Amino acid sequence: MFEKILIANRGEIALRVLRACRELGIKTVAVHSEADTEAKYVKLADESVCIGPAASSLSYLNVPAIISAAEVTDSEAIHPGYGFLSENADFAERVEQSGFVFIGPRSDTIRLMGDKVSAKDAMKAAGVPCVPGSEGSLPDDPKEIVKIARAVGYPVIIKAAGGGGGRGMRVVHTEAALLNAVTTTRAEAQAAFSNPVVYMEKFLENPRHVEIQIMADQHGNAVYLGERDCSMQRRHQKVIEEAPAPGIDRKHIARIGERCAEACRKIGYRGAGTFEFLYENGEFFFIEMNTRVQVEHPVTEMITGVDIVQAQIRVAAGEKLWFRQRDIQFRGHSIECRINAEDPFKFTPSPGKITNWHTPGGPGIRVDSHVYNGYTVPPHYDSMIGKVISYGDTREQAIRRMRIALSEMAVGGIKTNIALHQELMLDARFIEGGTSIHYLEHKLAERGEVKTA
Ligand code: ADP
Repeated sequence: MFEKILIANRGEIALRVLRACRELGIKTVAVHSEADTEAKYVKLADESVCIGPAASSLSYLNVPAIISAAEVTDSEAIHPGYGFLSENADFAERVEQSGFVFIGPRSDTIRLMGDKVSAKDAMKAAGVPCVPGSEGSLPDDPKEIVKIARAVGYPVIIKAAGGGGGRGMRVVHTEAALLNAVTTTRAEAQAAFSNPVVYMEKFLENPRHVEIQIMADQHGNAVYLGERDCSMQRRHQKVIEEAPAPGIDRKHIARIGERCAEACRKIGYRGAGTFEFLYENGEFFFIEMNTRVQVEHPVTEMITGVDIVQAQIRVAAGEKLWFRQRDIQFRGHSIECRINAEDPFKFTPSPGKITNWHTPGGPGIRVDSHVYNGYTVPPHYDSMIGKVISYGDTREQAIRRMRIALSEMAVGGIKTNIALHQELMLDARFIEGGTSIHYLEHKLAERGEVKTA
């Protein structure tokens, strides 16, 4: 096992990784920007290194500064968390070339999965069902593009191979709008991702977002840890996640989960990973893979008992997976509410000093947050300040416990989206379960919020 790990991230995930390391008896190095000097996990870490000013581009994305911090502290491995450099193949490569272990897949795997066209090709070859669309990238010839769209059938969506974070996509409803949309998406993709390659998919009108968590070791073993339903989204950002996904046949999940595990074995995947699917009319369609730990990993931990972050570290250290597929039992139901420092109606960020912070507790409640009373939420980063996770024997119990937890939670000094979560926990359609990825946007539009695609 490693003696010392450098945590190349901030916020709640930095604290989550730190806790996993402490339980495994591993020393920790927190790297932080000037804006995060006072953070709890920075104080709790065995060592800390300031790697630059507040702007992420100069600190959390500053590869040379992070590598030197690993060198001066004699760290053995680097955990990238999520966001920032976690899916940057060049970073993973630099880490390994500098003699450290990157806690994640090999850099060539990240590269393969980071390009959505090559990822889809690899998944198709591995027997994972994909959204129907173009074979690979779109050609230059306009006539060919029109032909492909006719074969796929309108509406279609044009997507950038290098896209991410919900950017670089355009829905096309008619042939008249097609070529223009392709040209515009290409130009945007070139500007945003330095990669003009685009591809086409059938646009699914009312799908759910259901994803499969997998864990793989370096010895050819891969296991799926069930699914999460993350359909409650606003502007392609997940707001509530839960496991299991309501109303989907367990046998169907097992079939798709086994496909994903098999795909991991085929491509020599190592570490934690997530296969994201759109689920519509009882069918799964692969859209992309995330080669890192996800924000919503706790709901899977709650229903399987597997500590995903510890597992990442143990397999990165070369350990064999200590559980097989048949050892994984899914028990109960878990829901996660992302707590953001933002206005619950207008969604404008609300950074600033927290003057009052009371977190809930009791049976089946877990709070993952780096925040404390007197903490100042910096304006420079993502607005998520924590996650409230509930667990129950049934979905109903998980919802009831979440309602109580949210009512106990008190945050002063800044605005949060707790009120929105309270509203959703009482929403008849949410309680029924199985809402689509558009549900929240429609609901918000109805309550007067301007709808944005
Ligand atoms: P990103 O990497 O930017 O998150 P994804 O490929 O995961 O891109 O797509 C983001 C979101 O866009 C999906 O969660 C879904 O809401 C929507 N989307 C993507 N592809 C399709 C499709 N073929 N049909 C309908 N919606 C889609």
